[in-house]
Amino acid sequence: MQVELQHNTLEVNLKPEFSMGQLCYIRGLLDGARRAAVVSHTNADGDAVGSVMGLTLMLRALYPQLEVTAMLPDGCPAQFGWMPLSAEILNGRTDAERCHEALTGADVVFVLDLNTPPRMESLATAFTASRAAKVLVDHHHSPDTEAFDLIISEPLISSTCELVVWLADALWGEEAVSREAATCLYVGLRTDTGGFAFSNTQPSLYMAAAQLVATGIDPADINNRILNTFSENRLRFYGYAISNCLTVDREHSFAYFAISLDDQRHFGVGPEDMEGLVNYTLLMVDIECGALIREEENRCKVSLRSKYTTDVNSMARQLFDGGGHTKAAGATSKLTLQQTVKKLTDHIATR
Ligand code: 5GP
Ligand code: MN
Repeated sequence: MQVELQHNTLEVNLKPEFSMGQLCYIRGLLDGARRAAVVSHTNADGDAVGSVMGLTLMLRALYPQLEVTAMLPDGCPAQFGWMPLSAEILNGRTDAERCHEALTGADVVFVLDLNTPPRMESLATAFTASRAAKVLVDHHHSPDTEAFDLIISEPLISSTCELVVWLADALWGEEAVSREAATCLYVGLRTDTGGFAFSNTQPSLYMAAAQLVATGIDPADINNRILNTFSENRLRFYGYAISNCLTVDREHSFAYFAISLDDQRHFGVGPEDMEGLVNYTLLMVDIECGALIREEENRCKVSLRSKYTTDVNSMARQLFDGGGHTKAAGATSKLTLQQTVKKLTDHIATR
């Protein structure tokens, strides 16, 4: 019996397409450039670090005449210390002068995994002042169209690292993505999709992953280096936070952590230790939307997540002038911890 095969009916997101104009523009910039800078957002995550390192490695291999400076507004987080360029990524705070010089002296600046210059925090002023050609490669909604000369923005694509894979293939061919660059780029694929699990998981993600794995990288090792990294203290802090700092509002299918500076000091934990804590809110079967509000000196960091229908990108923007993605967004609140919690819970209660 002949079995009829079901045809692939996917409409979106096989691979992003780049116009000849975009590709020629980037090639032209690089052929004539002597200095380049590669930069991403503050409080860098795996996608920011991975895309900065991956692109930097490829640019150096392909354009030996080009001096490429990689930088992050507050440096490379310790958890990514095992990655190839971790020791040389400049820190916008502690290496401010060198970053400023590299940005203002660059012929071309690649901005990755962010949509507006303020996300570059300590580096935003020098970036804006720079006369370099500014190329944005990103997957967040609503890029600032005034701030860049070329914008490659693909909100349907899982991660900036995935987008860098497709852009590199289109610009230079698959061989350009070396095993070392692939290790870096795989980190962003892995972290921005929660391990190929979130709703941004689409066919092109697996195609990009297949290309990277085929270079000979070790996904299991990368997985260990990304996930199994807690100190005992951090794990015990998670236990404390779940027991003492978590409020569950079942009526509105909402749960949030509020973490004071006192608690952070008491456990000796910092922002990087709180990375991922917000996801614990969504482990509860009847919770649709979760938040983490973390007190800092004179402000609070807000992280928002949702499972199905809640658009937390709009929520972050509306309440705190933040942003991100539909199901994962963040913001900085100028209010106190208590005021921030109230603003958020009032909003949830009136939805
Ligand atoms: P997280 O909650 O992990 O810090 O961030 C989740 C998402 O929201 C990320 O895609 C990140 O880029 C975005 N995001 C985090 N903080 C901010 C912020 O202060 N402003 C904006 N516009 N986006 C943010
Ligand atoms: Mn990203």
